[in-house]
Amino acid sequence: MEHADIKVHGIVQGVGFRPFIHKQVRFLKLTGFIKNTSSGVELELEGEKNDLQEFINTLPERAPKLAVIEKVEYSFSDKLKNFKGFEIKQSKTEAFRNTLISPDICICEDCLRELKDPFDRRYRYPFINCTNCGPRFTIIKDVPYDRAKTSMSAFPMCDACDREYHDIENRRYHAQPDCCPDCGPYVFFMDAEGREVPGDAIENARKLIKNGFIVAVKGLGGIHLACRADTPETALGLRHRKQRDEKPFALMCRDTESAEKICDISDDERRILESPQRPIVLLRKKEKGLWHISENNSVGVMLPYTPLHYLLFGEDIEALIMTSANISDTPIMYDNIQALEQLRGIADGFLLHNRDIQTRCDDSLCRVYEGREYFIRRSRGYVPFPIKREINMGMLLACGAEQKASFSLSKDDYVFPCQHIGDLKNLETLSLYEAQISHFERLFDIAPRAIACDLHPDYMSSEYAEKRAKAEKIPLLKIQHHHAHMASCMADNSISGDVIGIIWDGTGLGTDGTSWGGEFLTGGFESFERAGHIRPIKLIGGDKAAEEISRTAFYMLKDSGCDTESIENSELYSRMLEADINCPVSTGMGRLFDGVASIIGIKSTCSYEGQGAILLEAAAAEGIAVTYTVSIKDKVFDWRNMVREIYSDLQHPAGKDVISAKFMNTIIHMAVLICRDIREEKGLNRVCLSGGTFQNMYILRRLPKALKESGFEVYTHRRVSCNDEGLSLGQIAILNEVYNVSGNSFKTY
Ligand SMILES: [Zn+2]
Ligand SMILES: [Zn+2]
Repeated sequence: MEHADIKVHGIVQGVGFRPFIHKQVRFLKLTGFIKNTSSGVELELEGEKNDLQEFINTLPERAPKLAVIEKVEYSFSDKLKNFKGFEIKQSKTEAFRNTLISPDICICEDCLRELKDPFDRRYRYPFINCTNCGPRFTIIKDVPYDRAKTSMSAFPMCDACDREYHDIENRRYHAQPDCCPDCGPYVFFMDAEGREVPGDAIENARKLIKNGFIVAVKGLGGIHLACRADTPETALGLRHRKQRDEKPFALMCRDTESAEKICDISDDERRILESPQRPIVLLRKKEKGLWHISENNSVGVMLPYTPLHYLLFGEDIEALIMTSANISDTPIMYDNIQALEQLRGIADGFLLHNRDIQTRCDDSLCRVYEGREYFIRRSRGYVPFPIKREINMGMLLACGAEQKASFSLSKDDYVFPCQHIGDLKNLETLSLYEAQISHFERLFDIAPRAIACDLHPDYMSSEYAEKRAKAEKIPLLKIQHHHAHMASCMADNSISGDVIGIIWDGTGLGTDGTSWGGEFLTGGFESFERAGHIRPIKLIGGDKAAEEISRTAFYMLKDSGCDTESIENSELYSRMLEADINCPVSTGMGRLFDGVASIIGIKSTCSYEGQGAILLEAAAAEGIAVTYTVSIKDKVFDWRNMVREIYSDLQHPAGKDVISAKFMNTIIHMAVLICRDIREEKGLNRVCLSGGTFQNMYILRRLPKALKESGFEVYTHRRVSCNDEGLSLGQIAILNEVYNVSGNSFKTY
């Protein structure tokens, strides 16, 4: 006989871990106890040494699906305590406090089977769940995670549910959101005027949707607007009402087979599409079409993830447009009353329920790259799962930027990035942002000792950071935008030291006071240098140029000595440029894409962020290997030769598809050449790719390859997004280095 002390770190609470342990212990005839700790669970077990060893060895592979085991520590001794049987010790509140919280997980196979089983007591019950599935993060008000501290506190369990809850053999043992039609929440249906409609709520909603109407559906982390995907006039009606003219909608397909009818799906894409996180996956359209859903060649598809979704589809609906319900860039709606008020005139009906959404959490959005999720938005299904680093950072707060606002909080070796919040450009979003910081701080018991924010003083996130640092008298570090991107990619890949960063996005304030975004940086967490960039572009009318991208086309043509007469308002732009009124310069890669997209006639005015670049990518032909002339001087890419050649291609005329491909090939080639120059000078061989431009798959599929062919090691994002949403991870990493490791007085940064 032997005694074993075992510590399991990770997400092991609220995921059916203890019943699993109970079964294992009984099977191996072990004795002892299990209890929750701040980082997971602790066990003391006694039995035959090889049985104990087997228990430990098989833990990771046999653990319940939702458990995330990060580390198992154990030691053996011969000092026996002679336990009698096996005990699950109840923990004190404090001990729960630091424990990781599970994200919301889609309905499991077992629950889905019961949902469809006419003899099950939860037949067609839209809130069926168990320890392996269902809501978590979105219903939790506070820790410890038990029913009283979730939105389920309003629903006392009936006897039948209570028996399941206390039965360790049952799949619902200690499943906090467990409920049934007798004791749990219910759905109801309201018409456009907010009057409750009698009858089966789900059938009422289905009927309306099938007849081409728009129905607001309350889901897990917010309210969606749902309508038929197969009738363009329905989609156009939704666009009109939502004032969303061109931005693509996401689809929810009944199953993978339905999705396959409209998209090509690789094995990796299928795996991620069907994963319990159920993100929206950007898939390639089978053939051109579905223009009413997406104007480019991909479409965002997710599968149903709540029982309610499954019931909504039934047997006869294959695909629905599912778009977050919000008004003019405010966060996703989540409250019944708010939805009924604000969606008046938009929704023709409301499928709502009486389980409150405690925390909003929008759908996640990703592509699949190298077999993994490549995030555009990391949210439902992933948050609040932390990013683990191999370094103890203590408690820090990083406030992110402005677009795709995000914050991260650190504790020990974990970084907790928040869910999708939105662009910090209005008070509603700001108030959600502030509330979520408080919520995360309470959930994970974090009191930051230092704060990082963007260098841009006008961002609401910077103002928040400034105010808070002052009030709490804690240090504040202002971090250059693209340095934070680079650090984010480094932290994401768990690397340190000095690297080359190719950091491409739309905009970020540079240390020289101008807008950057087509940057080559060198350095590490502690400091950076600007090694190269693209030739600056004057933005005629400042921010307006990001929308009216023909302004940028005008400037680029003019600067390159090409004819600009074909551009509307060219005389006005000419005068503004000459007088230099409101024409700030930018080295943003996004602006270069804008200009080219407009020059070749893809778009002259954008209705959503990055539209020009997205459509340019979509237009590009495959199989084009040539580039335009790459002119580089002192590691600055002079795009004027390229623009002249594009202009001349247009006169021939070459197709937009060929020009788009040649343009991106040129950018890729330019990046490789500049990296080679930097390597020669500084001996750096590792390259990090970050910034929103790396959502462009044409570039992502080719640039890393081209760099590797030149002998570089290349790092791309893995766990957070390459766009500004992922930036706060980099801010935390820099703050940790400057504040904790270097003990730097912040002024020297
Ligand atoms: Zn389940
Ligand atoms: Zn019940």
